[in-house]
Amino acid sequence: MTSVRLRAGVPLARLEEGIVQVGSGATHSVLITNATDKDIECLELLRHGIHAHEVDSSLLEALKDAGLLEESAKIWQQYLCVRIVGLGRIGTLIARTLADDGVPYIDVRDGRPVDAAVEGIYGEEEKGMRRDVALRQWLTDRGVHWSRGRMPHVAITVDEGVQDWGTASNLLYQDIPHLPIVTEDREVSIGPLSIPGATPCFQCVERSRLEAVPGWKYLREAIAQEPPAEPTWGLAHTSAGIAANIIFTLLTCGSKPEQWPATQSWLVGTAGMHLLEWTVHPECGCSTSAV
Ligand SMILES: [Zn+2]
Repeated sequence: MTSVRLRAGVPLARLEEGIVQVGSGATHSVLITNATDKDIECLELLRHGIHAHEVDSSLLEALKDAGLLEESAKIWQQYLCVRIVGLGRIGTLIARTLADDGVPYIDVRDGRPVDAAVEGIYGEEEKGMRRDVALRQWLTDRGVHWSRGRMPHVAITVDEGVQDWGTASNLLYQDIPHLPIVTEDREVSIGPLSIPGATPCFQCVERSRLEAVPGWKYLREAIAQEPPAEPTWGLAHTSAGIAANIIFTLLTCGSKPEQWPATQSWLVGTAGMHLLEWTVHPECGCSTSAV
């Protein structure tokens, strides 16, 4: 018989008579209305672990979906696979951070050599090696697998100046959720997380930009001609931390991709952090239902 229990550190709060909230996060919590004494007793028992059949099936499902159960979170985490394309400072830091957080499969890709642009994050002895080969060695030394054959649960792309539409198209075509990161002159854009067929894709974003920013087409071309240098370490660490946190939280607190908040992007840089909202563009055709 399967035993289930709440993850350690998940609070149970009686908000008012008959209303109980399980979990503290705004997006990863469950609100139970009309909670009976039996429900509350069951939740208390869940702290220590009880048989799954003793819990109301709809409550069990809701707790599982929100990633509040120890068992489901652990099983899910054993198989997590993240792909990272683009290994400048940010991409490399994301891979290392996710490895430290316990992601067991990380597939890194970047055929560029270790050169002055990434000096300080790769070792002197790795100079001239392919970046992905050097980073795979680092990951392997820490027990992380990098199997290319494994389909990732999510991918992260890090591009300089403008997004590589070829990579984004491939991920879209393969139905792989992906978080685009683009480094700009003095800022870094993170998101929106694209879930194929459900949330805004890169073309939705591009079409919206074309409408909102006069001359965007020419500006994009100019940026592509002269991509920005690597971001400062402060900006790289901040951006990598935000991205790794988004991905790790999404993957471990709620296993259903359709629950992921995927309509926002963050612009991190000189003016602090800006949050931007995106919608599926009506003329894009990437999704049958608008967000
Ligand atoms: Zn689209």
